[in-house]
Amino acid sequence: MKIIPIACLEDNYAYLLVCEQTNDAVIVDPSEAAPVQNVIDKECVTLKAIWNTHHHWDHTNGNQKLYDCYPRLTVAGHVSDSKRIPLINQCLDNNDTLSVGKEIVATVLHTPGHTLGAVSYYLEKDRALFTGDTLFGAGCGRLFEGTPAMLHQSLMTLSQLPPETNVYCGHEYTYNNLKFAAVIDPTNTMIQQRSKSLEKQPCSIPFSIKIEQQTNPFLRTTSHSVVDTVCRQFTLSNPHPVDVFAALRKWKDTYA
Ligand SMILES: [Zn+2]
Repeated sequence: MKIIPIACLEDNYAYLLVCEQTNDAVIVDPSEAAPVQNVIDKECVTLKAIWNTHHHWDHTNGNQKLYDCYPRLTVAGHVSDSKRIPLINQCLDNNDTLSVGKEIVATVLHTPGHTLGAVSYYLEKDRALFTGDTLFGAGCGRLFEGTPAMLHQSLMTLSQLPPETNVYCGHEYTYNNLKFAAVIDPTNTMIQQRSKSLEKQPCSIPFSIKIEQQTNPFLRTTSHSVVDTVCRQFTLSNPHPVDVFAALRKWKDTYA
């Protein structure tokens, strides 16, 4: 299986997944159709399915145009988004399995918090994980619909996948997220190293679960250094990891 990141809009990524045996393809989160169609034409593949991670327009805006071009398309998303994802015709829930061609097989992980119907697609055999706006490089999505406890739990689920898993997220925010991470976790040299490596090569996709465990403060809510910083900023003592997470999310929402 081949994974082709496609830059869309200002800083979005769509991802074309290609079964190399059959030339069947899946597009994850087509925020617009034109750049996706260009890659489909260039690669000479047959688009079979759209997999949306959540209902936001900057992940689904290409659904209609692609569906017009490929009228037998499967359009998949979480069952709770059945009225919000354009043209959805395959409603998913946690642990469902999806397959296209001979090589593309994904498990659906319901990861609510950014939105209530947010899902991640985990391709175990290919060690690939598509997280939409749930997990970003060194960060996570905003809480638009869910509670801090919900998003914290979703991120814990993702961070417990094998460390070598490659993450493909919905936006290129990694470099900026690392600036916040460095404030939260100032003695963590992995954060500085990761930041430096992106100065030469600004595309951070894909990154591993392992580097997220090492550098993403939202996954490190039990690390002494992260907890210390949060306690000092918000005058907390002995906070629960969910409270650390909630404080971090609130802080990041207003961080320049
Ligand atoms: Zn979103």
